[in-house]
Amino acid sequence: MTGGFRATVLTLYPEMFPGALGVSLAGKALQDGAWSLETVQIRDFAFDRHRMVDDTPAGGGAGMVMKPDVLARAVDHVADGRPKLFMSPRGKPLSQARVRELAAGPGAIVLCGRFEGVDERLIEARDFEEVSIGDYILSGGETAALVVLDAIVRLLPGVMGNALSGETESFETGLLEHPHYTRPQEWEGRRIPDVLLSGNHGAIEKWRRAEAERLTRERRPDLWAAQNAPSKK
Ligand code: SAH
Repeated sequence: MTGGFRATVLTLYPEMFPGALGVSLAGKALQDGAWSLETVQIRDFAFDRHRMVDDTPAGGGAGMVMKPDVLARAVDHVADGRPKLFMSPRGKPLSQARVRELAAGPGAIVLCGRFEGVDERLIEARDFEEVSIGDYILSGGETAALVVLDAIVRLLPGVMGNALSGETESFETGLLEHPHYTRPQEWEGRRIPDVLLSGNHGAIEKWRRAEAERLTRERRPDLWAAQNAPSKK
């Protein structure tokens, strides 16, 4: 049960974990020890008998802000050199490239915000990397943390049965993936494209590549532009 990617999640709602990551491939990998998950109840690090973790915003306004002193105690309790991520809509949008880097490392400490967020000084003083999962607002960082960990765990050695499928997927190639089909050959009057039934692997590869390029051009001009930029890696 040792070794593997170590995730520590700081949260006011530890009961949300492993949640969706307790089933299927991620759940099996968790059971097998390919990764580990520890939750830390932030409230256990409060200073007063009411176990207060938040306070009113300096300067006024709606909502509450998570206290830096309480959060620092929780973080310092677990910090050991692993990357520290703060889930935040202001963060850098999560990318497959960053997921890959994290998956290659020893693990991550993931701080989940609630209310209006956390005191800015905590983010600075404990050197948190702010990570966003998209341009919308969640009610808390926990579901974002589940998303980040899901993306990481599926890349860990031995987690995905078919290792190949991890490498041809959307974003790994800089392109969206080609469409998929399976039996029946005809369904509701729609047929599987003939080329996929031809047995001609060269032609199939060509078709898939062309479809991936078409979909990327149509749906994600931003990705398409990056793909064709002179300095792409
Ligand atoms: N007042 C903040 C939103 C707070 S939402 C703002 O306007 O920016 C409460 C918490 O949910 C945040 O602290 C963060 O931890 C989490 N969260 C919300 N949306 C998120 C997103 N898109 N990506 C990552 N975390 C998010």
